[in-house]
Amino acid sequence: MKKENFDVVIIGAGPSGAVASAMLARAGRSVLVLEKQYFPRFSIGESLLPQCMEFLAQAGLEQTVHDHAAANGFQFKNGAAFHKQGQYTEFDFTEKFSKGPGTTYQVKRASFDKILADGAAQAGAEIRFGHEVKTVAVDCLCPLLEVLDEQGNLYQVEARFLLDASGFARVLPRMLGLEKPSHLPTRQSYFTHVKDNIACETDSSSDAVKFDRDKILITVNPNNSDIWYWLIPFSDGTSSIGVVGKPEQFSGYESPEVILKHFVHAAPNLRDILKNAEWPNEVNTLGGYSADVTHLAAKNYALLGNAGEFLDPVFSSGVTIALCSAVLIAPQVLRYLDGEAVDFEESFAVPLKKGVDCFKTFVNSWYESGFQDVIFYQEQETTVKSMISSILAGYAWDQKNPYVAQSERRFKTLVELCQ
Ligand SMILES: Cc1cc2nc3c(=O)[nH]c(=O)nc-3n(C[C@H](O)[C@H](O)[C@H](O)COP(=O)(O)OP(=O)(O)OC[C@H]3O[C@@H](n4cnc5c(N)ncnc54)[C@H](O)[C@@H]3O)c2cc1C
Repeated sequence: MKKENFDVVIIGAGPSGAVASAMLARAGRSVLVLEKQYFPRFSIGESLLPQCMEFLAQAGLEQTVHDHAAANGFQFKNGAAFHKQGQYTEFDFTEKFSKGPGTTYQVKRASFDKILADGAAQAGAEIRFGHEVKTVAVDCLCPLLEVLDEQGNLYQVEARFLLDASGFARVLPRMLGLEKPSHLPTRQSYFTHVKDNIACETDSSSDAVKFDRDKILITVNPNNSDIWYWLIPFSDGTSSIGVVGKPEQFSGYESPEVILKHFVHAAPNLRDILKNAEWPNEVNTLGGYSADVTHLAAKNYALLGNAGEFLDPVFSSGVTIALCSAVLIAPQVLRYLDGEAVDFEESFAVPLKKGVDCFKTFVNSWYESGFQDVIFYQEQETTVKSMISSILAGYAWDQKNPYVAQSERRFKTLVELCQ
């Protein structure tokens, strides 16, 4: 069987794979990215956080995203809005505690992922679309992969270091038995893209129908605070609409389309905002996505983005965490390739987990409904609000923010105050 050698092989050309490969290729290393699909392709995860822009800048990929947005390709985003039982509140990310960009974009991932992958290829990474990783062996010094190409031929690739950026496919966790159950219960989502036909940009007439195209709108189901919706407007007059709940909350309906329309109808603000929407697309469903692993890295491999831990979509943290994992691992892999002894646990997994754990505090509290009380608390102190805004903007690694540094303790106190 044909065998090739690279410094680094990356499984998957999604955001984490593209950013890691761009950084490593720019540093002069030979990088092969194996991607089983062809881009552009649909992916869920459309609302970015401003912290993403810093990570993209570190990989030299920020400008290409701005350029696409300037050509009306991506929707400008400056915050998050929340709605619950007639109450509406907004977090403006430009009024945040942490330094760094306060705005970002809402993106169709088909275009976004293609742009990043093209940028990585321009930086020197070789990306092979339609090539699927079938087996992996990591117990030797150099990981060895078997890959199925577009013509159905198997070939081998040897890497000095292997990065798994395979997203929900979780190639290494599955093949190496690294999977660990998530502490979060199983949840199910139903989603589609609609032609939204939303009449006005911002309707401030009443809390019930407030809507701002520059913000993701998170709506809590009026009858069950465990069920929530996203509405992510795009720049072309379409929006992503989705509902999330426990699987049993969606049982007894005849199809995903009926489920999504039924639940949207049950939320008066969404019913009103989307009253003229057209639903030309299929409704998709995805569930059981929360996942964890026993470890994020070993001597010759590391897990990026969703291939490692995935929490929950509620605060749009997925792409931010994926990009953070990529910018944290790249310099460590370069040190390793230069022959240095690298402790990947200390230099990669521990710093990455600090931010993930901060998001985890928020996610847990959202479903216990404490964070919902914080969000809708009317007399929020400005500094506290700016610190919460920072985390919602993705700055979950900024240890200067007390709600990051001591997230559980600080947050518990805040919830008690707001309740
Ligand atoms: C319902 C829902 C809503 C979400 N909403 C948001 C949101 O609004 N904002 C946000 O930031 N995040 C969101 N997320 C999370 C987001 O989708 C992910 O965190 C993000 O896409 C992870 O990027 P990644 O680079 O790790 O993997 P991916 O983007 O999934 O890329 C992985 C790539 O690996 C390839 N691959 C898989 N197996 C193989 C193989 N064997 N060989 C070769 N290639 C392979 C796949 O084809 C794919 O292209 C959401 C998630 C869910 C479930």
